[in-house]
Amino acid sequence: MNQRTIKAAIAVTGTGLHSGQPVDLEFHPQPIDTGIVFERSDIEGSQPIPASAFLVQDTMMSSNLVFGGARVGTVEHLLSAIAGLGIDNLLIRVSASEIPIMDGSAAPFVALLMEADFCEQEGLKKFLKILRPIRVKVDDKWAELRPYEGFELNFEIDFDHPAIDKNFQHAQLQFSTQNFIEELSSARTFGFLRDIEALRQNNLALGGSMENAIVIDEANILNEEGLRFNDEFVRHKILDALGDLYLIGYPILGRFNAYKSGHALNNLLIREILSNPDSFEIVTFDDNVSCPIEYLPLKGVAVEG
Ligand SMILES: [Zn+2]
Repeated sequence: MNQRTIKAAIAVTGTGLHSGQPVDLEFHPQPIDTGIVFERSDIEGSQPIPASAFLVQDTMMSSNLVFGGARVGTVEHLLSAIAGLGIDNLLIRVSASEIPIMDGSAAPFVALLMEADFCEQEGLKKFLKILRPIRVKVDDKWAELRPYEGFELNFEIDFDHPAIDKNFQHAQLQFSTQNFIEELSSARTFGFLRDIEALRQNNLALGGSMENAIVIDEANILNEEGLRFNDEFVRHKILDALGDLYLIGYPILGRFNAYKSGHALNNLLIREILSNPDSFEIVTFDDNVSCPIEYLPLKGVAVEG
């Protein structure tokens, strides 16, 4: 099982959730063992910003990377798409301090990256295999990773809201690219109307609308088209977690269980794992059959580097 990058560069323009301004995004193939790297195209001589758990500086509503004085915010939906597609090496150039919000899910990024197509690289894909359970807890919220042959994500939320059905507050994803695309990638982010109004008074969420979020008021879902899944809220929490967990630097072999977790706790969990070298090992697989995770089959030939 080899590493993957995209075949050719591709670009898109979206809207910044907070600025409300257009943001340009470019994706470029990268050599083996580069990992996922961001770069600010609007800052001259900007240093590359690696997608690393230790560069997450604030988790107010999203995961934000800060390095060398430059910031790239709201990386989790894009990282979820990249993790979901099993891309190991990629450069993301962005023209603002936030990744565009698109439709509030990972689906537009998935479509774009699939259009760029993937290629296999001459280097084995590395996985981070969990060897013993690690759990982090803040108040009644917790998140953990446990040993497991494959990658499974379980999430439970506890929202007491008339529009959020009590029967749809738990979800599970048995990770494969196919399952990710079909069951998770299009689950949108969500927000309360009152919070959005408060943010706008502080010049934040200026790009936020029902085009890029499920918006709920005290009693109802305001989007005319309703939900994409009955349990879209908790599916989106798994989508976020998948993106947040990819900041560990590798695809994970393990079982992720979380109760009311969010960006801060997800980040704490992977920092805890990386700080305990006996809790994981880096493994590779000589062929696709022995790998417990299934990605999309590749068309075309392997390229150098
Ligand atoms: Zn999200």
